[in-house]
Amino acid sequence: MSAEKGVDFDGLLVDLDGVVWVGDRALPGASEAVQELRDRGVALMFLTNDPTGSRTEYAARLAGVGVVATRSEIVTSGSALASVIPNPEGVGSTVFVVGSSSLKAELAEAGLTLLDNDRGRDADVVAVGAHSGFDYDELRVAAQAVRRGATLYGAGRDATFPMPDGPWPATGSILAAVETAAGATAVVVGKPEPLMFDLARSALPHCSRLATVGDDLRSDIAGGRRAGLATILVLTGTSTRRDLEGDGEQPDVVVEDLAELARLCATARDRQRAQDRRNA
Ligand SMILES: [Mg+2]
Repeated sequence: MSAEKGVDFDGLLVDLDGVVWVGDRALPGASEAVQELRDRGVALMFLTNDPTGSRTEYAARLAGVGVVATRSEIVTSGSALASVIPNPEGVGSTVFVVGSSSLKAELAEAGLTLLDNDRGRDADVVAVGAHSGFDYDELRVAAQAVRRGATLYGAGRDATFPMPDGPWPATGSILAAVETAAGATAVVVGKPEPLMFDLARSALPHCSRLATVGDDLRSDIAGGRRAGLATILVLTGTSTRRDLEGDGEQPDVVVEDLAELARLCATARDRQRAQDRRNA
């Protein structure tokens, strides 16, 4: 498969951390790349395993780096939790949340009743996402609720996230504490589990050639493959060329950054359109 033929996608599920930005810094050329892809008719969804912000907050953060995106074009592990917990075969309507105020707002907006403090011991569901205010009482109430029969959900299993002064604990670290204290294993919705990919894909029903774009072989690439998507690795984040040397997960396409991907996609789309015109 030639590189150009290999990137003639009509929809991309784009990771944020390590693809569009790193920490507070927008990656060079990322916003122009998004525009170029859209100009060529490539539909985009943005996916993040970070449950600390709401979709509205992510839309604002994207606008801050020059990317226009609506709330409905964003899937976070928090919004994935909000979509899966209250489903018709769901597990109940009261929830104790270990997580940020934004995660709590997403879950409340989805129709769940949030139980605070010790009332949380009687919740039907415990939902866990990393937040900087995590403390012993939250851990205790979460564990007690699960031991009383609540179903345990986690936004993800990423142990850490990159920060300028070294990795900080992510949802996976806090979830491990809750699982240990509760003696239970959580249902996890973040990448590499298929739910976020499925939610994003269902928002692009008109697309037939979809790929996931990410910087992490374990979550984005392995997860995308399991979800039946083509996979594109960018080298602006977690995984490096050296990580590709082993016999681990291999993406379908490797590019330096989102800008290179946009150039390849544009060329492939232009070529395909010229071909279609000739055949018409
Ligand atoms: Mg990432």
